[in-house]
Amino acid sequence: MHQAGSGTDGRQRVVVVGGGFAGYHALRRLRRLLPERDTELVLVTPNDYLLYTPLLPEVAAGTIEPRHIAIALRPALPGVRLVLARAVAVDTGRRTVALDRPVAAAEGPEGRDELRWDRLVLVPGSVTRQFPISGLSENAHALKTLVEAVYLRDHLLVQLDLADACPQTAAGDRERRRLLTVVAVGAGYTGTEYVAQAQLWLRRLEGRWDRTKSDDVRWILADLAPAVLPELGGRLGRYALDVLRRRGVDVRLGTTVSSVGPDSVALTDGTVVETRTVIWGAGVAPNPLVGTVGAPLDRGRLVVDATLRVPSVPGVWAAGDAAAVPDLTARPAGAGPTMLPPTAQHAQRQGRILARNVAASYGKGRPRAYRHRDLGLVADLGGTAAVARPLGVPLTGRPAKALARAYHLYALPEASSRLRVLTDWALGAVLAPQEAQLGLAARRDALIPAAQLGAGTVDGQRAASP
Ligand SMILES: Cc1cc2nc3c(=O)[nH]c(=O)nc-3n(C[C@H](O)[C@H](O)[C@H](O)COP(=O)(O)OP(=O)(O)OC[C@H]3O[C@@H](n4cnc5c(N)ncnc54)[C@H](O)[C@@H]3O)c2cc1C
Repeated sequence: MHQAGSGTDGRQRVVVVGGGFAGYHALRRLRRLLPERDTELVLVTPNDYLLYTPLLPEVAAGTIEPRHIAIALRPALPGVRLVLARAVAVDTGRRTVALDRPVAAAEGPEGRDELRWDRLVLVPGSVTRQFPISGLSENAHALKTLVEAVYLRDHLLVQLDLADACPQTAAGDRERRRLLTVVAVGAGYTGTEYVAQAQLWLRRLEGRWDRTKSDDVRWILADLAPAVLPELGGRLGRYALDVLRRRGVDVRLGTTVSSVGPDSVALTDGTVVETRTVIWGAGVAPNPLVGTVGAPLDRGRLVVDATLRVPSVPGVWAAGDAAAVPDLTARPAGAGPTMLPPTAQHAQRQGRILARNVAASYGKGRPRAYRHRDLGLVADLGGTAAVARPLGVPLTGRPAKALARAYHLYALPEASSRLRVLTDWALGAVLAPQEAQLGLAARRDALIPAAQLGAGTVDGQRAASP
């Protein structure tokens, strides 16, 4: 029996902030390790689902239904209290986390909506990295949340519908060219997979338009780096570059964006491209919430030790994209520990180790260090094109594609979501793509501040005013 805690009925309360890969896997194991009669488990997260982000480009490219990669948290986490809210600040002195949610359930002084904790697990993930580039947050769209993916899918259809209806005048032709131009910035897996897959998707749909063919769409993929998919190494990056260029994508390496307007984008190679579609995929930054802890950060990520504990604050752990986790498998290079990359592969495994270590703080078992050698990444380029590096072995084409799909089916939590995704792939192989646009995601809600940080929305739902 533990000492009286902050939870309901005086139970110890473990608060987990973030219902993504790390949070989901941590809670599954915590519920097994800590009996419900002693410990209340609370999950604070803005949505009631875990988002399987690796398949987001397939949602944006119309091949997978959005709900099929949203794994419902309530049934998956029995015995966990779900609080649909955004955590906005952590007070380590008072052991509280302040919440932003539409209906305040005041637990703290002066009506402030907050939760007390005895143990705190910070796993709020990351947000799309933004730079101080004029017009970026008002005009560019990222691909990190479901609302962004759903919006992008419809947006592209709308652009082609509008282009098809443009009058055949000089002004109409100019507007048509603008509507038929897509600029994606960032040739990591998000930008590259999106461009490659959306391009093939439009090809399968082109019967929808009277005078517009998918080849009329001009695709530009820009990145400041000298290679495509640098995460996968030179050979696979060159293969992906070759696939994209053969399909007519204008890949501009060593190039980024200097400003983004509603109708055009200025690139650092001196060109101005008229477009109404700018996709921003230039990497991620840790969730700003971890900056409120007041503990040391490494490039914005909360520094943890190998057991995923925040060393300077008793009772606090962190993992996933928001934490700087030392890589115990890296060979010593003399310049201090290497930090693990922000991937789902690490986040889910860190979640499980973290759960063991939180339980160990209650005397159940012994703490363990996190050690996992990267299994490699996969990137699906649409059709039969893909690249993968399982355990360091470079694969391309059909074998990489088969591996990518097998990996997703293995990594997707819950058998029902695997079956749903498998069904989408099977139907996609025999049926024409479903082309209806639903218009469910408003443009404003799909901009980075609203979609990823909740600015102007209430718990991820649309605010009432226009
Ligand atoms: C398009 C795309 C493709 C990717 N492909 C791959 C891939 O193929 N392989 C791979 O390994 N990785 C991939 N990743 C990276 C992977 O998604 C992340 O590394 C992983 O999601 C990190 O897990 P996490 O638990 O740290 O964060 P997430 O899974 O992002 O979970 C964070 C959770 O915290 C919630 N949250 C955010 N802010 C707050 C707050 N203030 N309060 C409470 N809750 C909050 C979020 O809503 C979310 O539920 C991809 C990412 C993207 C965007």
